[in-house]
Amino acid sequence: NTTATLHGEQVQMTDKELVDREYSSESVIAHELFHQWFGDYVTAESWSNLTVNESMADFSEGLYAEYKYGQDAADAHNYRYLQRYLGSKRDVTKNLVRFHYDTQEDMFDLVTYQKGGAIVQMLRTYLGDDVFFAGLQKYLQDNKFGNGEAHQMRLAMEAVSGKDLNWFYNQWYYGAGHPVVSIDYAWDAAAKKQSVTVKQTQDGHPFELPFTIDYYVNGKPVHQQVTMTEATQTFTMPLATKPMLVNVDADKTLLWKKTDNKPLTEFAYQYKVAPRFVDRAEALEAALAKQTTDASARSLVVSALSDKYYQLRVAAAEGLKMDNKDVAKAAAPVLRKLATTEKEPHALAAVLGALGQLKDKKDEKLVTKELAGNPSLTVQGAALRALGNLNAPEALTRAKAYEVDAPAPLGAAMLSVYARQGGAAQWAFIRDRFDAAQGQGKFRYLGPMNQMLGRLDDPKAFSEDVTRLQQMAMLPQLKAYGYDKLAIAAIQKGAEAQKGKPNAAQNQATADAAVQAIQAAK
Ligand SMILES: [Zn+2]
Repeated sequence: NTTATLHGEQVQMTDKELVDREYSSESVIAHELFHQWFGDYVTAESWSNLTVNESMADFSEGLYAEYKYGQDAADAHNYRYLQRYLGSKRDVTKNLVRFHYDTQEDMFDLVTYQKGGAIVQMLRTYLGDDVFFAGLQKYLQDNKFGNGEAHQMRLAMEAVSGKDLNWFYNQWYYGAGHPVVSIDYAWDAAAKKQSVTVKQTQDGHPFELPFTIDYYVNGKPVHQQVTMTEATQTFTMPLATKPMLVNVDADKTLLWKKTDNKPLTEFAYQYKVAPRFVDRAEALEAALAKQTTDASARSLVVSALSDKYYQLRVAAAEGLKMDNKDVAKAAAPVLRKLATTEKEPHALAAVLGALGQLKDKKDEKLVTKELAGNPSLTVQGAALRALGNLNAPEALTRAKAYEVDAPAPLGAAMLSVYARQGGAAQWAFIRDRFDAAQGQGKFRYLGPMNQMLGRLDDPKAFSEDVTRLQQMAMLPQLKAYGYDKLAIAAIQKGAEAQKGKPNAAQNQATADAAVQAIQAAK
């Protein structure tokens, strides 16, 4: 039976939860259904070739997002997955098809899933949709009710494309890692020539990389197809005038880590004109990094608060450094307007979060209204946190309602308000909940406990808090994940924050003793 699909029960959600559901928790449904073809109709020949099941199912998540929610949703989903792989150092050394592994479980990782999915997406861009999907169909037909390997997928793609693809499969399926590149630009005014220099700096052989460069002149892109084969390569293009933007990898499809040395003016133009979600996401990242020192960066960030795709609106609002006067001044009027017009729950939650940081009493009414009346639990949670900054006693009173059986977003907001604005009574609550919780249930209290450590002026609470963090730090199963180091850092930070308060010396001694005990434990 190739069409039986088992889903985890987490895909079954209440109406309340569905209001806040994002594609990240829906994508698993597409993933599991895609296994009816890649996994069941044709099954991976061995764990070594797990990619023909799992990379394909991973790829299908973006494919379904594209079909159901549009290109931005697909790009955002794929971009998030790619960043997860690129952020994992230990996965750089693993081939996608691996013949040596300790247990089969080792194959279920960021390489087989997220990197593999990005590789499939890259192949799709390279071959074009007609050829690529014909290749997938041929692979399924040729191997139906049997087993498949990556080589069979290659042969199917070669048959339909008429291209040799050994170079692609050798470097991406039977090789490890990814290109790490820097990109630099130069305009030769005398020769009227733009050049782009891409430099691969990773260890080992340079990757062969076909991609498109878009040169924007008079508002329109001139496309240039190139293939990079050397470690350092310069591409040139004669143009009538200096381009407003040079957009390398215009399809935003390459699996690489890059340092793009383009000026902020070009990123601002890219944000406005270039077509892809990733174009705008990269421009926003560049602007967020310069928001406190550069007025044009601030204005890009502020315009991204109204981006057409909500996840960029969230990234802009969450990335605002509201403790900077210039940023606060530029963003406040837009945030206040968005607080009444934004409909997407996660974006509205992020707007309320940023507004709350202004600590301006006049926003209390607006925040209270969302807490009471918004159908989204995520928005209500954000409103409660914001209220904590605006009117702490009121927030503490309202948070009390969520002490028992609150839905997750409100329970978390309650803990956050307690940790940031609570006193002795709220410490006692967190302490007792932590003590009563079992196993991983304790984790949700660690953040609030770290926060209270430095804030309360109460040596008894400080000592109770440190004792519990110390106990956690000495559990071997948590030490294996490096939690002991995190706990030491939190305890030291808590003692540091106590400096200047009446019981600083006593608390410092408590912290020192705990750190010593953690370090001495084997
Ligand atoms: Zn799967």
